[in-house]
Amino acid sequence: MSIKSMIFSILYPNNCAFCKKGVSYNSTDTYICDECMNKLNFCIRSPRCKFCGMPIDNPAYSLCNECLDALKSGSKIYYDKITAPLVYNDAVKNSIVYLKKGMFLGAVSTFCHLIESMIKSDFADADLDFIVSVPPRQQRMRETSFDQSRLVAKTLAKIIKIKYIPNCMKRIRKTEKQSALGVAERKSNLDGAFAVKRCENKFKNKTILVIDDVSTTGATINECARALKQAGALKVYGAVIAKTAKS
Ligand SMILES: [Zn+2]
Ligand SMILES: [Zn+2]
Repeated sequence: MSIKSMIFSILYPNNCAFCKKGVSYNSTDTYICDECMNKLNFCIRSPRCKFCGMPIDNPAYSLCNECLDALKSGSKIYYDKITAPLVYNDAVKNSIVYLKKGMFLGAVSTFCHLIESMIKSDFADADLDFIVSVPPRQQRMRETSFDQSRLVAKTLAKIIKIKYIPNCMKRIRKTEKQSALGVAERKSNLDGAFAVKRCENKFKNKTILVIDDVSTTGATINECARALKQAGALKVYGAVIAKTAKS
């Protein structure tokens, strides 16, 4: 550790984004203790699905089974690609639960730096124009009044120096909590649920990055991508902190 790092670590103790244990200062603003580092499952370490970014077992296939099934069943994938630094597991879970409640926001910087590294590797050719975030459910906002995707998007925007446009999408009908539903229900729950508001002209021929906290089936980002493309967006990419493993 350099002298500067050492002084920083004394003045500003940092905490692991996943277990909150104090870790030493580092200039990358990414705080993960050794123990959590071993428990985390980084997507970048495996061959991944070219659509949803999920690690796949066989590098000979470029698609995961779920994306393959979705395409076979005629479902339309509106997004161009999704990326995530982490596979959702127990080591990630607590941290995301805290984030959703608006607690331990110190972890956001680490999440965003992890997402940044994925954007650099997966979206290297994408010329991103704007960042937007998935609009929260109204019921959720009534309960917690905290929008974690917005905070992640705003923080990431500063790191990667791309403009974040808040409140440019809305839910145009009531939707249920995705995590409470099965795969098929998740899709129908969100069918046509989002619309672009106020920024219609802004998105014409633009490349947009949509931010959410966790992605399971990709349905949420897909529906946002549908709305953005209906508003004229050329390409829509998605980035989340963690992607849940397929069952
Ligand atoms: Zn830790
Ligand atoms: Zn996939």
